Amino acid sequence: LLFSLTPKTKKEDLFDREKELKDLEKLLQTYPIVVITGLRRVGKSSLVKVFLNESDLLHITVDGRRLYETSGGNISSHHLTRFLGEELSRISKSQKLLNVLKRVRGITVSGTSIELNPKEFSLSDLLEKLNETAKRRKKKMVIFFDEAQYLRYYGSRGGSDLLALLAYSYDNFENVRFIISGSEVGVLHDFLKLEDYSSPLHGRGIGFLTVRPFTFDQSVDFLMEGFREVGEKVNFDVEEIVREIDGIVGYLVLFGVKYLEKKNKDEALKEVFHAVKALFEKEMEELRKRSERYPFILRQISRGINTWSALKNIFRAKGDFIGDSRLYSLLETLEKMSFIEKTQSGYRIVDPVFEKILSE
Ligand code: ADP
Ligand code: MG
Repeated sequence: LLFSLTPKTKKEDLFDREKELKDLEKLLQTYPIVVITGLRRVGKSSLVKVFLNESDLLHITVDGRRLYETSGGNISSHHLTRFLGEELSRISKSQKLLNVLKRVRGITVSGTSIELNPKEFSLSDLLEKLNETAKRRKKKMVIFFDEAQYLRYYGSRGGSDLLALLAYSYDNFENVRFIISGSEVGVLHDFLKLEDYSSPLHGRGIGFLTVRPFTFDQSVDFLMEGFREVGEKVNFDVEEIVREIDGIVGYLVLFGVKYLEKKNKDEALKEVFHAVKALFEKEMEELRKRSERYPFILRQISRGINTWSALKNIFRAKGDFIGDSRLYSLLETLEKMSFIEKTQSGYRIVDPVFEKILSE
């Protein structure tokens, strides 16, 4: 079903993304670490889940948010090991791993459940075992870290200990691969610290894949296909809807779901904006915690005050004598987080729905 609100897991439910699926396959053959970026709700998790389920790769998924929440805000290696053990239990039957893991010291298999004894071996030991297991099966073992921005709460050094482990695995465990994705590009960069010379991952080749919003035509096709699938006759202009909400598939899905519920396109549109607004306010809150200037800048840009000097002037006008380098760095961060992008005519808000909400 195209109009379903959770990430897709099956190919038949995934609209298009043929090229991305192929690209991801190629990248994983080349790079031990592949990073997936893109706006929230654009379809990153769906792409990776479908890819992994359709492939013959061994794979474990670690949802950073769940890891963070179940660990009470501070993720220890002990916690991650246990979490991986639970995931292994879940997948080992379908991926036929039980018999192999049974023979590994420190791992107890009872029925289909797997216990890892963290006292007997460390995370890197576990990766080593997974590497051996994969090798024996002549396969690759992929560990998918989704919502990876939460991994900066791993250990006491902003996630650096986990990065060091990834770097170690990169160099030593040929059959273990990582896919890393998350909802906030900037935080993802903050976690991976790729531009940082002292980062454990610095200088290693990493694969990047950006998931982009659908084009106008794709978006129209997507909505038509979604309605056709549930036998709904469409008696309104679908193109008008796409002009309003653009190509972020998560919003298109939400529109479809709401329309089927209300049978009224204007109400459905309103609901979409309402939901996006809640999401938006949460993100603004996060930004505000870092600096009150972020939401201010975004609002100005949405109103067309979108060049560096115009922004500088408007700060002046309200008595905020912001320094040049500070303004640069704020804009750069917003850019990294995919809130804004630079164009020839100045900055612009990337997400059209956000833009509309901002300029209200
Ligand atoms: P992200 O991980 O980028 O935030 P998700 O994968 O969670 O995005 O997708 C957001 C919403 O869009 C979900 O409802 C999901 O089912 C839907 N979706 C994502 N990609 C597709 C696709 N290619 N075809 C159909 N629905 C999709
Ligand atoms: Mg996701």
